[in-house]
Amino acid sequence: PAELTQHGPAKIVALCNQKGGVGKTTTSINLGAALAEYGRRVLAVDFDPQGALSAGLGAKTHDVTTIYDLLLNRHADVQEAIQSTGVAGLDIIPANIDLSAAEVHLVNEVAREQILAGVLRKVSGDYDVILIDCQPSLGILTVNALTASHGVLIPLECEYFALRGVALLIETIDKVRERLNPAIELDGILATMYDSRTLHSREVLERVVDAFGDRVLETVISRTVKFPDASVAATPITQFAPEHQAAEAYRQLARELIFRGAVA
Ligand code: ADP
Ligand code: MG
Repeated sequence: PAELTQHGPAKIVALCNQKGGVGKTTTSINLGAALAEYGRRVLAVDFDPQGALSAGLGAKTHDVTTIYDLLLNRHADVQEAIQSTGVAGLDIIPANIDLSAAEVHLVNEVAREQILAGVLRKVSGDYDVILIDCQPSLGILTVNALTASHGVLIPLECEYFALRGVALLIETIDKVRERLNPAIELDGILATMYDSRTLHSREVLERVVDAFGDRVLETVISRTVKFPDASVAATPITQFAPEHQAAEAYRQLARELIFRGAVA
């Protein structure tokens, strides 16, 4: 991909699927790292109280400003919450378990769905891409992420019941488009945990393509133990095993999204 001659404002993309364990966090980390390799300035936002993105990128999560502070305190400093990572060009805003209390606190807020959008607006000029790693639910936090975003990326594992729930997710995106964020687009569905050796995986991928056509990205992420290994090492796979085909797959995803115009 061409090098950028100027940076920002950011294209904001939510990684979303209300099912857990489908590759949202893994994709946030490794797509972020791959885009950074291509010279993009990337901010990854941990929007899951489990804090897996923060752990996976080696961020501090205690005695620091987190996304929770930014949501609940209008005067909190966004710059103070941003941490650099071991990857040049990739920054993170961390989260910890405090964030699980945010839903309750936000219920009584004015314009509660727009709070994250307001936070990210303050730093949008400093980045080319902002990736929001959503929690596995369709609650207020995820609606905040969708309201703040230009695009949504849906990781979908190649398992039989994977398609269940996607209709509800797309319906939620449609509602957010009608009521809160007319500009939001589906940037793509990303097949993950693909095992080409099993008929099962191939059949599921076929069904996904039947159901969603060209909304399914060409890049497919294979199942490999390198991902859990890399997350234990708190390092993106692009650095943990730079030559592995799994690292190359995330570089391909970065290129595909750039060529589709989904990101700069
Ligand atoms: P989510 O954020 O959707 O809950 P994760 O990205 O945390 O999902 O992935 C769940 C688990 O599966 C993690 O332990 C992760 O390391 C592992 N994992 C993710 N992608 C793959 C893959 N392509 N192959 C094998 N394991 C994977
Ligand atoms: Mg996750």
